[in-house]
Amino acid sequence: MISAAIYVRISSDPRGEGLGVARQEADCRALAARLGWTVGGVYADNDISAYRGKVRPAYERLLADIGAGRVRALLAWHTDRLHRSPRELERFVDLAERTGLQVQTVQAGKLDLATASGRMVARMLGAAARYESEHKADRIRSKLAEVASAGRPHGGHRPYGWEPNRMTIREDEAAVIREACGRVLNGEPIRAIIRDLNGREVRSATGLAWTHPTFRKMLMHGRHAGLREHNGREIPAAWPAIVPVETLRAVRRVLDDPGRVTTPGRGGRLHLLSGIAVCAVCGASLRVNQSKGMEAYRCKASGCVSRRRDRMEEFITDVVIARLSRSDAADLLAPEDDGGARAQAAADAERVRQRMDEAADSFAAGAITGRQLETITARLRPQLAALEEAAAPPPDRASVLGDVVGSGDVAAAWAALTPDVRRMVVRLLMEIRVHRGRRGPGFKSEGIEVVWRR
Ligand SMILES: [Zn+2]
Repeated sequence: MISAAIYVRISSDPRGEGLGVARQEADCRALAARLGWTVGGVYADNDISAYRGKVRPAYERLLADIGAGRVRALLAWHTDRLHRSPRELERFVDLAERTGLQVQTVQAGKLDLATASGRMVARMLGAAARYESEHKADRIRSKLAEVASAGRPHGGHRPYGWEPNRMTIREDEAAVIREACGRVLNGEPIRAIIRDLNGREVRSATGLAWTHPTFRKMLMHGRHAGLREHNGREIPAAWPAIVPVETLRAVRRVLDDPGRVTTPGRGGRLHLLSGIAVCAVCGASLRVNQSKGMEAYRCKASGCVSRRRDRMEEFITDVVIARLSRSDAADLLAPEDDGGARAQAAADAERVRQRMDEAADSFAAGAITGRQLETITARLRPQLAALEEAAAPPPDRASVLGDVVGSGDVAAAWAALTPDVRRMVVRLLMEIRVHRGRRGPGFKSEGIEVVWRR
């Protein structure tokens, strides 16, 4: 059995990622397996361009080992990994001829340096590689220029939260953005936030009252988290962030959620438990509809379960007031202690984002194909989504519950809350699952399962 050396080299690798080297080696090993060769050793040069004429330590060691008869067969991804100047090629051809070296490449097949025609093929490949190398340098330069310019802002209207130069934060508006993000994450409907801002005469960048589409679009913009978006890719921007990137992503998830109820029910508001209580049979959420002249929460998917609206709301209200009246209710205000899990998820998410960036860079540098980039991205995207969800900022419990818990009379404080805030309180405290009830008339509180969130 022939024992072969593998030579790998990555060029055009300004960040020294080594990604290309790993793939070259994997492809060479696969080729060795097909040829029935074993792999005796790997020689790797990274981030050194042969075209610039620098010394390649592993390459020099390889030539020495070939000359000494320690390497008799060689695998490379392409001849352009081995040599890029005619002078290097001639040196390699001399050595191969003298030692009877066998050379196989993944891309160009067998390199037969023992015959004149084989050497001619090698020289042509070398000339092509040199041409390619010169062009690649141009391509990378223009790509880098593009990325660099992409990190800077476009021109246009002054965006909300920013000075006209689009790089400096306008603090009073940034405070509104932070506040609105917090309220969205606490479960407050975006329409209620807009109503409140317009009521406080907080105006948009053009001095107009906020509308639903303009406010939603503004709040979800990547620039607030220091991201420049370019052709569907996120690039770290040259400006500072108003909110952490986890906050932005969590806000986007909430506002993008198609299951989210954005249109208030009859009377201009949502019922207390619509979209919060879920059907224990099928998992769908409950909503209020009329049945036999009476309003009831029903499973909105298949009507598996149903309860009278008034009695159901009374029951949950009693449970909430009882919980918030307990002597240990102040414990509910403390931020959740997740044992660092959230921070860990945020760090892991950042690493996945970096890997996606690196893959995109490799694609830009021609080291991987668009298809490979798609495969990598498709694999990483669900991981990233799950990690970002785990890293999402927790609801601000103190701001939602503080007024009620701190009041002397919990029932009165609850009654004074707006419907939207009551829904936030319920959502923060509990999950509600409604099972099928016993048959017969009257309200059945059994089968209403309250799961405390902490
Ligand atoms: Zn159901």
